[in-house]
Amino acid sequence: MILRKPPYFDTFTCIAGACPDSCCKEWAVQVDDASAEFYRNLPGPLGDRLRRVLTEEDGDTVMAIENGRCPMWRSDGLCRIQAELGEEALCATCRDFPRLRHDYGDFMELGLELSCPEAARLILSAPYAPRVCVEIPGGEEPEYDQEAMDILLSSRETVLSILSDPTYTVPQALALGLLYGYQVQSQLDSGEEQSFDAASALDSVRGFLKAPDHRALPDFFAGLEILTEAWRQRLARPTSGAWTEEYRALAQYFVERYWLQAVSDYDLYSRIKFITASCVLIHLLGGNMAETAQLYSKEIENNLDNVEAILDAAYTHPAFTDEKLLGLLLTVSGT
Ligand code: SF4
Repeated sequence: MILRKPPYFDTFTCIAGACPDSCCKEWAVQVDDASAEFYRNLPGPLGDRLRRVLTEEDGDTVMAIENGRCPMWRSDGLCRIQAELGEEALCATCRDFPRLRHDYGDFMELGLELSCPEAARLILSAPYAPRVCVEIPGGEEPEYDQEAMDILLSSRETVLSILSDPTYTVPQALALGLLYGYQVQSQLDSGEEQSFDAASALDSVRGFLKAPDHRALPDFFAGLEILTEAWRQRLARPTSGAWTEEYRALAQYFVERYWLQAVSDYDLYSRIKFITASCVLIHLLGGNMAETAQLYSKEIENNLDNVEAILDAAYTHPAFTDEKLLGLLLTVSGT
């Protein structure tokens, strides 16, 4: 099978004690069955501690957080399990994080999660480059719709090139990505390919743009599940800054992570809105862009309920209308 990964994937190393946030904060880590059994049968003080902190939640075993942190976190920023037993004793969640894996049967794609500060640094600072492709053993007959996958694979390359095209400002590139996504949705629906004319696409929307509404998106996100007080505060007081080049890398990250997922339900529409709204919200919130993006990912991407709520809202919520999203990109605050 073919394995694809971003060029920076293999350079990731957890910075542990130097991490400004840590995946050991706020999250109750879900522990796989094999690790839970191993932990519960460990002798000695570490086993006693693990038996006290492992709890059952909705049929899953989790490491209940204490004082806002994983109970295995040590004050030097290291994990007690890793320090005493080695990396191989970590549960699958901790061993894999922040690595992402999407297995489509005959090919697999790897990536890093933006919710890890060190991964966010790599994702947002790396100049855009094609994914590295290698042949690996294994794989199986794919179950996806080949025609839909071909459309999505080819259109993903096009949207990535639109996003990195310096001919367009960052907000113009994001607006074009949204408009191009609509066209690909129509191709998925009808099977008919159309050429994409960026200049006409931009001209066609200028007539109905509304003045930028800086509150609609933060207010919508404030109604979702919130993990940290810092996020609540950021949503309450947005302070948008400049559209820096990092936003191209941010949009490319979202495209690489979510575009192909439309093969499962033929719904690219809600995903391109999710991608665009994510970039626009991160810009609206301002502050240090990498920190805002990382916090966004921790609050939103790592909470499936929140992701589903946004995909649903893409169709129905007034904050996600074209007038609102494109208004924030192509009027005063954008170009
Ligand atoms: S968030 Fe990333 S860098 Fe920080 S401790 Fe976790 S894996 Fe390491």
